[in-house]
Amino acid sequence: MISNIPPAPAIDGTTHLHSGKVRDLYRIDAGEHAGRLLMVASDRISAYDFVLASTIPDKGEILTRMSLWWFEQLSSLVPHHVVSTDVPAEVAGRAVVCESLEMFPVECVARGYLTGSGLVDYRASGEVCGIPLAPGLEDGSRLPAPIFTPATKAELGDHDENVSYDAVVATVGDEDAAALRDLTLRVYARAEELARERGILLADTKLEFGRRAGGSTIVLADEVLTPDSSRYWPADAWRPGRTQPSYDKQIVRNWLTSEASGWDRSSGEEPPALPAEVVEETRTKYVEAYERLTGERF
Ligand code: ATP
Ligand code: MG
Repeated sequence: MISNIPPAPAIDGTTHLHSGKVRDLYRIDAGEHAGRLLMVASDRISAYDFVLASTIPDKGEILTRMSLWWFEQLSSLVPHHVVSTDVPAEVAGRAVVCESLEMFPVECVARGYLTGSGLVDYRASGEVCGIPLAPGLEDGSRLPAPIFTPATKAELGDHDENVSYDAVVATVGDEDAAALRDLTLRVYARAEELARERGILLADTKLEFGRRAGGSTIVLADEVLTPDSSRYWPADAWRPGRTQPSYDKQIVRNWLTSEASGWDRSSGEEPPALPAEVVEETRTKYVEAYERLTGERF
């Protein structure tokens, strides 16, 4: 259970609604965007179910810009929730104004490669979310075709739980379940192709969708295709059968579990602050992922 999320700073003209491990969500009270949401990405980083004591400079801005870039790339496939990037000065560059949607209570995950909780489930049952897979697959194996592996949204700090497609049908009904699966796989396919052209494998990604009050259109929400919601692997280092190097917190995880950190994962204690070099290397990885994907300088 995550207990160490710092209190969200007050922002004039908004009401704080929610804080996750990394992002803070506010409702805008008045003006042109009254009733809309302000989604703020902090520089916080989490690992092993803790928000770490150290922050990664510019992470909030890098991930916000990456998400915006992807919304744009995907805009012919699905409408998105971003209304404006004109945000209060104290969160400039790392926040967006977005529509307040009725969210589907489903984490819509697509996987093109087997790893993480998918691999754990496969090893236990030969299936992921009720989808049987061929025997003999390893950590990092490419799947014959991408699969939709939904999860339930856990309470803050709990782990999301993989569920079957039938469980999604039971929650949202046939028609919406089919639409969510279809959209998730289409977004994944487009993103995977685009990343591949830039030398990056998109192993999997988690999307969230919502609907406008009283409307029928399904809208892509939350953050999209950031290293916090997706696994990105450098294509040239891909070797199934081991943990793949990735564009995310791997440097942090490696250090935390090394002797040097002095931290015992099983102790239940908060991890120590990261050394400056680990912070800098991690920042460099996020910048590299942004620049390689978008072709833009950060
Ligand atoms: P975690 O840190 O594990 O991700 P979390 O999901 O509770 O925890 P955030 O991801 O920071 O924390 O919270 C963002 C919240 O905003 C999520 O509950 C998400 O479903 C919700 N959300 C995203 N976009 C919209 C939107 N357009 N309208 C309404 N809610 C949204
Ligand atoms: Mg979240």
